[in-house]
Amino acid sequence: MQITEIYKSLQGESTYAGLPCVFVRLTGCNLRCSWCDSEYTFTGGRKESIDEVLDEVKRLSPGGGLVEITGGEPMLQEREVVPLMERLLHDGYGVLLETSGERPLRNVPAGVVKIVDVKCPDSGERDTFCMNNLATLSARDEVKFVLSSRADYEFACDFTERHGLAQSVNAVLFSPAFRKDATGARDSSHCLLDPQELAEWMIADNVPARLGLQLHKFIWDPAVKGV
Ligand code: SF4
Repeated sequence: MQITEIYKSLQGESTYAGLPCVFVRLTGCNLRCSWCDSEYTFTGGRKESIDEVLDEVKRLSPGGGLVEITGGEPMLQEREVVPLMERLLHDGYGVLLETSGERPLRNVPAGVVKIVDVKCPDSGERDTFCMNNLATLSARDEVKFVLSSRADYEFACDFTERHGLAQSVNAVLFSPAFRKDATGARDSSHCLLDPQELAEWMIADNVPARLGLQLHKFIWDPAVKGV
């Protein structure tokens, strides 16, 4: 499979935020979100076999732990990534799959936690989520909305309510988008939507969702990759 990078850091997002985690970042994406902070994954990378990826994961995190399969869009390489996830589960790792949900998710192994990033209008990729994937979501999965405006927030609230997400998945995550050229200050000044404003909307509307910040961008310089 085509790999951009494999590294160990802290998980920055989802209900797993703060835990040590190995990231396997696959090359290539078929979307072009306006705020994408992973454009360096669109091309390049190196070819690695499933065994080579497993060896690297085991070197970084011997004896188990958390592994996130991400990208780019990892499900573009479904033929290799599904057996990789099966092998990781078999070897005792907790496996997270970060995906836009644009590709079918029916072949993702049941033990994998899917973190599905449903695209909002201001991402420029609205309506790319494959609605059939809703039926594949389980009580272990999480649905994330990255928000950069009030319109995005209203879209996310409506989608959450219309599809009963709060009752069917482990967590619904509302996360302010980060400016993609952010560098320097490790604070919320780089957010395209002020977290305080978002928090106040969520409190006022009693939204059944969890506000998520990208923890790694508050720990390291937001421009630093591989953390
Ligand atoms: S789906 Fe992810 S990697 Fe692809 S353009 Fe959007 S944010 Fe970037």
